[in-house]
Amino acid sequence: MPGEIKGLNEECGIFGVWGHPDSAQLTYYGLHALQHRGQEGAGIVTTDGKQMKLHKGHGLINEVFSQNQLQELKGHASAGHVRYATAGDGGYENIQPLLFRSQTDSLALAHNGNLVNAQALKSQLEGQGSILTTTSDTEVVAHLIKRARHLPLDEAIMEALSMIKGAYAFLLMTENQMFVANDPRGLRPISLGQMGDAWVVSSETCGFDVIGATHEREVKPGELVVISNEGVEAKRYASPIQRTLCSMEYVYFSRPDSNLDGKNVHASRKRMGKALAKEAPVEADVVTGVPDSSISAAIGYAEESGIPYELGLIKNRYVGRTFIQPSQELREQGVKMKLSAVRGIVEGKRVVMVDDSIVRGTTSRRIVQMLKEAGASEVHVRIASPPIKNPCYYGIDTANSGELIASDRSVEEIEEQIGADSLTFLSPDGLNEAIYQGEESIEHGGCMACFTGNYPTEIYPNTAHPYEKL
Ligand code: SF4
Repeated sequence: MPGEIKGLNEECGIFGVWGHPDSAQLTYYGLHALQHRGQEGAGIVTTDGKQMKLHKGHGLINEVFSQNQLQELKGHASAGHVRYATAGDGGYENIQPLLFRSQTDSLALAHNGNLVNAQALKSQLEGQGSILTTTSDTEVVAHLIKRARHLPLDEAIMEALSMIKGAYAFLLMTENQMFVANDPRGLRPISLGQMGDAWVVSSETCGFDVIGATHEREVKPGELVVISNEGVEAKRYASPIQRTLCSMEYVYFSRPDSNLDGKNVHASRKRMGKALAKEAPVEADVVTGVPDSSISAAIGYAEESGIPYELGLIKNRYVGRTFIQPSQELREQGVKMKLSAVRGIVEGKRVVMVDDSIVRGTTSRRIVQMLKEAGASEVHVRIASPPIKNPCYYGIDTANSGELIASDRSVEEIEEQIGADSLTFLSPDGLNEAIYQGEESIEHGGCMACFTGNYPTEIYPNTAHPYEKL
């Protein structure tokens, strides 16, 4: 999961509650369960039907909110967000939810994803006199809604959504209504749950479990769900297009206890490991996984191959966020602090090291070296996804193309660079089958653009990779 050592980061997580007197406290717990989706900023906005209050700040959810601050956020509804800075910089004004106040009402917005036509829309809005106060894509949507305010609010939101392109799950809130939208391809996960009479919205189903809510359904691609004291109404603002949910949510981002489109993430990862064992068998003594996100795939590999699974690598859980440091030197240092090879397990053994993905390759090289230093006689690296060759434009920090080890190297070259005795990646077909189990064909499965280069939306000529400074 993000927050590990890989240099892969999710953009954001969103969580909301409508119709509960402790909505802010519940949202705090929900955001805590989604913390892996963003560790750089967090915020909660509440409404009591008359006024909206916002508190946000830099850092982890428990660093941003004290009990007193949560108690200040009174109201029956709350919208919250955890953020990894992507499009726009990491300034305070970009921490979400964004809250826009006018003389008549207020509008709060929280967003997960990335808009591919944000630059074009920003230029258009500024040309028409709008003044943008943040560098975040999310503000563009607020301005588009404002421009359509001659319409009822739900129609104004749908008008704005029909103009933006890319990947997005949105949570919007006024004093009296909450709106949840998913992009026409459903690239990012977003679900609806219930807790008694209260409605709950979460990027991942693990957010429902932590507060005892039940998962009701996914917000469908191209759907706007309107929640108010009158109930829930679903509207469609875009024609249905085949869902292309991000495959990396299954591979790496989502928590193993979450379900995506009804499929448990841990079980999907186990199937990836099993498929990998079928595609790339090797003679070895033990299988080990890189904690935490690769453990499920390693268990699957071990089950399928009959080679015992062992804890050959241990994660130090008390290191903090050193891995966020962007320089190469600090990143490598972060690996040493976060992981240890267990000599008593790997010494003299032929080890299969299962990892979920390789981004820059530096982490893999360091872990292979660590296992060899601990006495492993051979280290065979098995990756439970295809090589990441292309950048993501949809809100995932897969690094720039130039930094991706697989963008211009063969598997043999990567094998040599990371010092493995052998290296194999899961095939795109193998990944698709592990996720969908034949329920959808390769042409119509999830987004796999970072592996295949087949982007499910247009990529505009001026679409900046969100992690290059805009
Ligand atoms: S390009 Fe890759 S990381 Fe980005 S949405 Fe598609 S599958 Fe996910």
